[in-house]
Amino acid sequence: MEQNQLDLETFSCSICLDLLKDPVTIPCGHSYCMNCIKMLWDKYEQKKSYHCPQCRHTFTQRPFLQKNTMLALSRTLLTFTGEKNLIKV
Ligand SMILES: [Zn+2]
Ligand SMILES: [Zn+2]
Repeated sequence: MEQNQLDLETFSCSICLDLLKDPVTIPCGHSYCMNCIKMLWDKYEQKKSYHCPQCRHTFTQRPFLQKNTMLALSRTLLTFTGEKNLIKV
């Protein structure tokens, strides 16, 4: 059970509260869907203030979004093994 909760947090996007789609990891170490973080930061484009919704770390420059292939791969495995269980938690 604990394992599942940990996984849910790791594979969830705190913006859309769904499982990560096209996971990207930003420099503070948190992961979001590529689209979610892009949309969020587009809103802040004028202020030139980009923050991580999870830890509130603020970046003065828009960080390069790096695709997290490891997370993407694990997510695919999760889809096969226990996605239904994860969603119930
Ligand atoms: Zn998302
Ligand atoms: Zn963060």
